Amino acid sequence: MRRDYYAVLEITATAGPREVRQAYRRLARQYSPDVNFWDTQARVLFEEIAEAYRVLSDPAARAMYDRFGAAVAGDDALPAGRRGEDVHLVVELGFAEVARGTRVRLDVPRFSPCADCDASGVADGARCASCYGRGVRRAVEPVEVAIPGGMDAGSQIRVAGEGHAGPFGGPRGDLLVSTRVAEHPFFRRKGESIHCEVPLSVWEALRGARIRVPTPAGEAVLVVPPGTTGGQVFRLRGQGLPKLAGEGTADLYVTVRVEMPAGLDARTHELVRELERLMPMDPRAGLERYRGGAA
Ligand SMILES: [Zn+2]
Repeated sequence: MRRDYYAVLEITATAGPREVRQAYRRLARQYSPDVNFWDTQARVLFEEIAEAYRVLSDPAARAMYDRFGAAVAGDDALPAGRRGEDVHLVVELGFAEVARGTRVRLDVPRFSPCADCDASGVADGARCASCYGRGVRRAVEPVEVAIPGGMDAGSQIRVAGEGHAGPFGGPRGDLLVSTRVAEHPFFRRKGESIHCEVPLSVWEALRGARIRVPTPAGEAVLVVPPGTTGGQVFRLRGQGLPKLAGEGTADLYVTVRVEMPAGLDARTHELVRELERLMPMDPRAGLERYRGGAA
């Protein structure tokens, strides 16, 4: 069994390039065949040190070694057919894309089979120079991903067989796409449902009205009953986003805000006084009992 390369160089897995180089120089001096030419064990050790240094001093080879072990980065007999790792990507989506669902073309950085050696790691009877005998090469390749409508921030899509290629002809892992959804200036998302705030004029609130409100899919009519107060919440069934799990569309919740006209003149002031006389009300009558802090 081959020893761990870090153990061979007597360093930790977090050692920097300088530390790797220093460790190699120290050990190479110690076990150099020039010094120990009669000692076969020292020679084997020296070869081991040289191989560990070759891999750990090359950032790409070291990353491969950390990921796959010596089978890929080193010279061991190579186990063929191991499945590649999954690739994780984050995609940022706009609100409209989330609402409708979309297709995105992602540039996926991943290991792909080396074409020059047919993923074998060997070309013309020697180690393949294109992939350093690893059978896979780094590549950035476009992958088209269908994003279903209703994705939420943090939702994950698994695209089977679009991850890293396995070493030496092994099948690809999966591509995992997480979504980040940009904030919308009007619609807010709470779990499955969508919330928004719509202003009403005081007259609409007073007499009731049919008002048009934007929805993720277009527009809907909200019937506001007479005497609506600010802060009241209305539910528009099925006017939110498509449900990710299961069928149908989630709801849109509309909170209304009542806006006042500004700038009364003498005539409008008199008209408001007239209304007040016709419709007297005392909205604070119930507060009297709390005077002085009584409960
Ligand atoms: Zn190759």
